[in-house]
Amino acid sequence: MFIDKATIHVRAGSGGNGAVSFRREKYIAAGGPDGGDGGKGGDILFAADTNLSSLVDFRYKRKYAAENGENGGAKRCSGKSGKDLVIRVPRGTVVRELETGRILADISSDEPVVVAKGGRGGAGNQHFATSTRQIPRFAKPGKPGDELDLSLELKLLADVGLVGFPNVGKSTLISVVSAAKPTIANYHFTTLTPVLGVVKVDDRQNFVMADIPGLIEGASEGIGLGHDFLRHVERCRLIVHVVDISGMEGRDPKEDFLAINRELANFSEELVARPQIVAGNKCDMASEEQINLFRSFVEGKGYAFYPISAATRKGTRELIGAVASALSQLPPVKQFEAQPISDEERRLREAADRKFTITVENGVYYVEADFLESLLMTVNMEDYESLQYFQRMLRQSGIIDALEEKGIEEGDTVSIFGFQFDFVK
Ligand code: GDP
Ligand code: MG
Repeated sequence: MFIDKATIHVRAGSGGNGAVSFRREKYIAAGGPDGGDGGKGGDILFAADTNLSSLVDFRYKRKYAAENGENGGAKRCSGKSGKDLVIRVPRGTVVRELETGRILADISSDEPVVVAKGGRGGAGNQHFATSTRQIPRFAKPGKPGDELDLSLELKLLADVGLVGFPNVGKSTLISVVSAAKPTIANYHFTTLTPVLGVVKVDDRQNFVMADIPGLIEGASEGIGLGHDFLRHVERCRLIVHVVDISGMEGRDPKEDFLAINRELANFSEELVARPQIVAGNKCDMASEEQINLFRSFVEGKGYAFYPISAATRKGTRELIGAVASALSQLPPVKQFEAQPISDEERRLREAADRKFTITVENGVYYVEADFLESLLMTVNMEDYESLQYFQRMLRQSGIIDALEEKGIEEGDTVSIFGFQFDFVK
């Protein structure tokens, strides 16, 4: 089955921790701090891959993570940055944040797009020496990378979308005007996957045509196709509406034409208002009278009409010429406006993530917070200045205020991840 929707989870790499280290040289008792910085976490990017035509791969693999940055080392050695992860998707994939539905990227061009950013590495203790603090025994932890649930949705990029009932000759048409080779058969449900074909107009001009599974094909049989596929026409600049005017299947071309346009309107008003050229197909099996009747009906509604026979290629050149000249007057393929996560937002989210809980038991104040765990890894609690730095972080994150609200007094015990210390104002 053709898969054009998926939800995945991505986690960009977290930054490596800064190192706490001191120079050791022969004959020098205690050198200065030389702890290097942690490396940056890898980003998660999305890139268009023309060899892909569906999102089926994401059915099987749903979790994606970029590499973490390495921790800093001694001798001012910076940790290596984590490798970026590039996720390849078919061109035209729209990436949304699952929770809000907000579009983070429209993967329509060749440029890969960063969707989740890796965390910054923490600064090593080499940066924390001052004239009064010569032995900094603390460093900064790395920051976590963006972690997001994403929805992926393929919205094909084509200049022209073919719409029409099953069996009217859409696949035949695209196969004679382009190199695309869709399955053609005299039964319904032939096309289950959209097919793109490049139509060469002349040496300088070409355009992309999409053969989309018939709207009614699946919907009428309740197999859940139908409307869903219309999303692939959404971006098309022009619609070519193919109608079987031969009546050889006992169908009324006028009714077919109106029914399809109703389906388009049901999907969106915008879609039915899209420029539309009508191709009356199977003219080889239609009488002059049938053709003229349908022509006046369609032209009476204000559409351009082209009688063709896809099977014998009669009239297809004229149709393609008309499509090409209409396209030259139309705006380019629609791109969705993306709103990537800004650094400002990242700061706000991070602040919101600095959640903590305080519980008091037998006079001991237990503080729990994820962000403190990483901080504890880069701070030496045996050292007075490190402790001061740690307390500064506690104050900045509002934990001290919260403790005071809970009635903490000087000398009371605070416990954070098993580490206990006396509260000092
Ligand atoms: P689709 O379902 O709209 O993609 O239709 P297909 O392209 O698969 O064609 C359905 C049937 O109509 C096939 O048997 C084709 O050979 C036949 N067909 C397509 N175009 C023409 C045409 O111009 N004249 C005639 N007589 N038959 C055609
Ligand atoms: Mg078909």
